[in-house]
Amino acid sequence: MDTESVESLESCLMEIYPEPIIDVERGEGVWVYDRSGKRYLDFGSGIAVTSLGHAYPVLVHTLFEEARKIWHTSNFYGYSERARLAEKLVKLSFADKVFFCNSGLEAFEGAVKLARGYHYARGDEDRHHVISFEGGFHGRSSGALFTMSEGKRIGFGPVPEGSVSVPLYDEEALSGAISEKTAAVIVEPVQGEGGVNVVRKEFLHHLRSLADTHGFLLIFDEVQCGMGRTGRLWAYEDTGVEPDIMMVAKGLGSGFPVGAVLARKEVSKGFSVGRHGTTFGGNPLAMAVASVTVDVISQPDFLVHIAETGAYLKEKLEGLVTRRSGFYKEQRGLGLMQGLVVTRDPMDMTRRLAERGLLVIPTGGPVIRLLPPFVVGREEVDRAVDILEEVV
Ligand code: PLP
Repeated sequence: MDTESVESLESCLMEIYPEPIIDVERGEGVWVYDRSGKRYLDFGSGIAVTSLGHAYPVLVHTLFEEARKIWHTSNFYGYSERARLAEKLVKLSFADKVFFCNSGLEAFEGAVKLARGYHYARGDEDRHHVISFEGGFHGRSSGALFTMSEGKRIGFGPVPEGSVSVPLYDEEALSGAISEKTAAVIVEPVQGEGGVNVVRKEFLHHLRSLADTHGFLLIFDEVQCGMGRTGRLWAYEDTGVEPDIMMVAKGLGSGFPVGAVLARKEVSKGFSVGRHGTTFGGNPLAMAVASVTVDVISQPDFLVHIAETGAYLKEKLEGLVTRRSGFYKEQRGLGLMQGLVVTRDPMDMTRRLAERGLLVIPTGGPVIRLLPPFVVGREEVDRAVDILEEVV
């Protein structure tokens, strides 16, 4: 990589991210190309985003067609594609109502506000505490500070009063945190950033029953694990537990920024006219691209392809763990959301793999994530696993 040119190009950006791993120029399918023309197998999908791969022809066509029609309008005006996408998401999920936003974080903010607004609308003004779980990741706003580890919180002021993060599966800490002020518990059915931890189904059932008993709402954050990633359209489908509110983003637009808050009708009453909103949420370009993305991913055959390719990748990774146990400690995950526990620094591993032509995503812990686009085939899985073996 031509590091000098990257440095000079990047010098006006705030120093928030580590030094770029590669200098991307374009993408096609499962591949991205850097400025020198070198190609990389993209098993990161821009952190679980480009669900249909790069430059998926129907999406490119849809985006251009929509841009010719209109590319922004206000939520003061109706727009049929927005309503149609909401209807699709409702038909395909537990939910009755949808609010569109632009990112996972905005879905978090919307979900938390909706939960608090729901209790308020029922006359329960004191219910505003939210409980999250360690290892969970929900975004980086000041309102989400309580969900972050201490290191990430420090220096950014106080967290919202009463909201806490407790260790996953810690019964005592959880029951100590629940009170008559609890508005909601938020959980990722599969923790992504926290190391690809598939949360135990029994625990999710337990949360559901605690929510019903104590009168708080259950929020599932499916920003990373939803939209087909686990081989089901929604990760919750595999658990037998339905949430009251669900957050979606990342793969929903296959690379076009879009997020959504889904809720049951009764819960959606937490918002009324003027109580929430966004300028860009529900943008025509995002709606058009997301609508086609949902159509493609929700096809039963396509979900079967994700599940089968995911099972193949899992099997290959298990083999790798057996053969290279000094390097790879454990395979984790569901579908095309796979993690490898590594004995080396995950960021360093990520760079070394990129040098060999494989892009993966590190996590906050000792785990690297493999999150390929759903259009990936077995041949590419084989190549990726070969590179993971070579790097040892
Ligand atoms: N929730 C989960 C589970 C995520 O993985 C992320 C981002 O990685 C977010 C929320 C925040 O999404 P965004 O980065 O779009 O704000």
